Amino acid sequence: MTDTIAPSQTSKTETPSRWLARGGDGRLHAEDVSLDRIAGAVGTPFYCYSAGALRQNYVNLKTAIAASNVSICFAVKASSNIHVLAELARLGAGMDIVSGGEMARALAAGTPPERIIFSGVGKTRAEICAALEAGLHQLNVESSAELEIVAEVARETGIRAPVALRVNPDVDARTHAKITTAKKDSKFGIAIGEVPAIYAEASMRPELNMVGLAVHIGSQILDLSPFRDAWAALADLVRQLRVAGLAVERLDLGGGLGIGDDAQAGPDLVEYASIIAETVGDLGCALNVEPGRWLAGRTGILVSEVLYLKESAGVPIAVIDAAMNDLMRPALYGAQHPLLTVEAPRLVESDDVCRIVGPICESSDDFGRYHGLGTIVAGDLVVFDNAGAYGAAMSSTYNSRDLVPEVLVNGAQFRVIRRRTNIADALELEQAGSWLAGENSAG
Ligand SMILES: *Cc1c(COP(=O)(O)O)cnc(C)c1O
Repeated sequence: MTDTIAPSQTSKTETPSRWLARGGDGRLHAEDVSLDRIAGAVGTPFYCYSAGALRQNYVNLKTAIAASNVSICFAVKASSNIHVLAELARLGAGMDIVSGGEMARALAAGTPPERIIFSGVGKTRAEICAALEAGLHQLNVESSAELEIVAEVARETGIRAPVALRVNPDVDARTHAKITTAKKDSKFGIAIGEVPAIYAEASMRPELNMVGLAVHIGSQILDLSPFRDAWAALADLVRQLRVAGLAVERLDLGGGLGIGDDAQAGPDLVEYASIIAETVGDLGCALNVEPGRWLAGRTGILVSEVLYLKESAGVPIAVIDAAMNDLMRPALYGAQHPLLTVEAPRLVESDDVCRIVGPICESSDDFGRYHGLGTIVAGDLVVFDNAGAYGAAMSSTYNSRDLVPEVLVNGAQFRVIRRRTNIADALELEQAGSWLAGENSAG
């Protein structure tokens, strides 16, 4: 997937992920299920995920980093449906969570609490309390102020808190500015120079079990050298803490591994593994990584129907029934997802260009300009590829639209793993009684 700042940039299409392929009829299938069949059953728009591709990604990554004995915690925020999580949990994955809601999802998916790590810069007292009571593996703490609250809650509950400090190593991940998280001015983590004093002080407190350090430098990282810089800095810090007599047993190396598409190659897992081995492999620490996008991104698509064709300033526009509330990345980051038609492209001679837009009343509800889609007509189904991470998980009901269904395909079978919401669900949440009748008055 290519994150581009310029909204006018065009992308070549028609390079489906392997699990997404044309059947004998030339139409797209997800694994062995035709997308027409799913669309007929659940309507459009819908998300569709490949269970097989997700499992394969997990196994490939696990195998690549096996030599350094690195465990994998999936970043739940990338794709938080419990049936997606369960596919990974069954293979032995842990989960990296950033809220109490995600903790409930990870547990509901069958993840053992001792494989769950709680990250995030703003955990509430209630979330910290729930995490300790559930017996999570580790809390990654991002400030002295948060450490105080963790210590307080640990004292109150009588549960010793397993804590890692999230370090800001001041490394530029050289990715999109909105997904860079470890430069000096980032809101995330504790400045690396301040960590030794905080770690030493915290290690004296009986209610805290200081287990190690964590970093996470950003997302969609394809040039792996920032990982080397961050983990080398982390290794130096470990040695420094040990010289001071402090125990550092675990290192959480973060997520951020990017995904490629036809325009850009994906990261080299062999190189990723060797950077881990070189920088932190000889410290004797238990290691883990927290990929979200790399595991899930290429295992999902968003399918939508073309509603209308029109033209603006001489450029054809297809208005589709999916919008920025369903897939936010183009509006939020200027990302452009590869686009395919379910029908074999009706190719035309000229290098055709078509803008794809959604129905929402915002100019940013625009998926960009696409080349080579061929002739498109109303009623066609189009597919945004590489939408398995930060797609459904980021969606909203803006413009009072329904949350779209999520469908999981496994071989020749498919299952609706989240139903479409409807306006009745939404109105139900707003049953507030009558103001005029004074029903809600505080007396
Ligand atoms: C978002 C996030 C991740 C996952 O990032 P990806 O780019 O999807 O791999 C991992 N760890 C933390 C702390 C995060 O905030």
